[in-house]
Amino acid sequence: MRSWSMTAFDTLPLKPELLASVQTLGYSTMTPIQTQSLPAMLEGRDVIAQAQTGSGKTAAFGLSLLQSLNVETIRLQALVLCPTRELADQVSKAIRKLAANIPNVKLLTLCGGMPLGPQLASLSHDPHIVVGTPGRVQEHLKRGSLHGGGIKVLVLDEADRMLDMGFSEAIDDIIGRIAKHHQTLLFSATYPDEIRAVSARVQRNPIEITIETSTETKPAIEQQFIDV
Ligand code: AMP
Repeated sequence: MRSWSMTAFDTLPLKPELLASVQTLGYSTMTPIQTQSLPAMLEGRDVIAQAQTGSGKTAAFGLSLLQSLNVETIRLQALVLCPTRELADQVSKAIRKLAANIPNVKLLTLCGGMPLGPQLASLSHDPHIVVGTPGRVQEHLKRGSLHGGGIKVLVLDEADRMLDMGFSEAIDDIIGRIAKHHQTLLFSATYPDEIRAVSARVQRNPIEITIETSTETKPAIEQQFIDV
């Protein structure tokens, strides 16, 4: 059996445009989270993955949502929810790089704390992909400036942080406003009961992926016991 470190992206059923992007980015092999999650995600399965920043999770869900994207259909097809504007900007950049060889992909970043006017102007035509924070995305769906009826993939990135920041209600409301049948990909650094509850509420028969933290990423805490 080949170990994960030997697995190349071209073993996956990815569009040639995406394989080309992966090559341009210099990704020669998949990271563990990619090896374990991508086959299931590409089959359209729901996935819940315990993944930290640095694991390669963004490329995992980015490739998956771009694989299912149909550029000729001018509709919102993928929605990525992030806890902060900084993360939404990073995720948007990463997806744009992966989409570099697919012409005419329209991606919009919609975050709170930004003026609404320019967002409304750029929403005059539906984007294919939206990356944003829950409050602002919910507001656009409510106003009707964003239409969720064609969404095929919903990504909850850093779901534990979104719950900590009080976005639980906004996320539930968003899910109530988008297409009933969509794939849900949930990424979280930790698995508290609240995350399990969200997964049970919004996912169907998800594949669960846990990547063991390697010893190098554990904090170096030395314990000493002194008998006095
Ligand atoms: P993330 O965990 O999504 O924040 O990604 C962490 C970093 O890993 C990013 O800088 C990516 O560009 C990089 N990365 C993602 N997948 C791979 C891969 N298969 N090989 C090498 N680097 C990667």
